[in-house]
Amino acid sequence: MAWFKRESKGIITTTEEKKEAPDGIWNKCPNCKKPLHYTEQVENQYVCHYCGYHLRIGSAEYFSVLFDNNEFTELFADLRSGDPLHFVDTKKYTDRLRDTQAKTGLKDAIRAAHGKIGGEDIMIACMDFNFIGGSMGSVVGEKIARSIDYSIQNKVPFLMISKSGGARMMEAAFSLMQMAKTSAKLALLSQARVPYISLLTDPTTGGVTASYAMLGDINIAEPGSLIGFAGPRVIKETIKKDLPKGFQTAEFVQEHGFLDFIVDRREMKEKLASFLKMMKN
Ligand SMILES: [Zn+2]
Repeated sequence: MAWFKRESKGIITTTEEKKEAPDGIWNKCPNCKKPLHYTEQVENQYVCHYCGYHLRIGSAEYFSVLFDNNEFTELFADLRSGDPLHFVDTKKYTDRLRDTQAKTGLKDAIRAAHGKIGGEDIMIACMDFNFIGGSMGSVVGEKIARSIDYSIQNKVPFLMISKSGGARMMEAAFSLMQMAKTSAKLALLSQARVPYISLLTDPTTGGVTASYAMLGDINIAEPGSLIGFAGPRVIKETIKKDLPKGFQTAEFVQEHGFLDFIVDRREMKEKLASFLKMMKN
């Protein structure tokens, strides 16, 4: 039983010689735990092809999924947060911003771009959850406001892709003011009769849900997204009751009348193109 016994001792493979898959090539689906190859993910619009789970993606991926030939012009790219309150928690807000910018390559939790979907012009503002939990600070609010101004001036429909934990605590009241500011701008967009589509993705919560995310002419969501205002634990403790099954999923929210459609990401571009054509006529 030679194969059963280890005959030569001390077999040591140096780290350089170990054969491992490079980082990020394989990923595990957070839902069904099956391995997903990176190229498969890209081909499948970052949806698990075993169980349909929609992986969390950022603005770069959404732009590549939606814009024709991934061609777009990014606008207002240089806006950066100040630190008006000189806020410090576990670290200084200015340090947190600098570290997150270095880590993510993003300037803040949102990017705005003008391009085409199915040949139709569109202005998209898309949030990035990797940047301090996709929190809504003054840069997020300002970029949305400027995107809406751009939409009004150029008569281009506006698509907002939300993905956020809510307001940015480090900017306190400055962050909360963005709710009123973006809502007021959306009222102007509506007066100008320029369409607004809101796309809610996993997760959309807090002040974002309570302002621009729910104000679309059409409100759509990706399947299985968490959509809510306060977290389930807080609500449970407040009302002292168990919450219904599926509470705060996109499907539950749609059933209760807050969403128009739930659209699979793999069909999103086609659906958006048909909405845009429909609203043009
Ligand atoms: Zn899966």
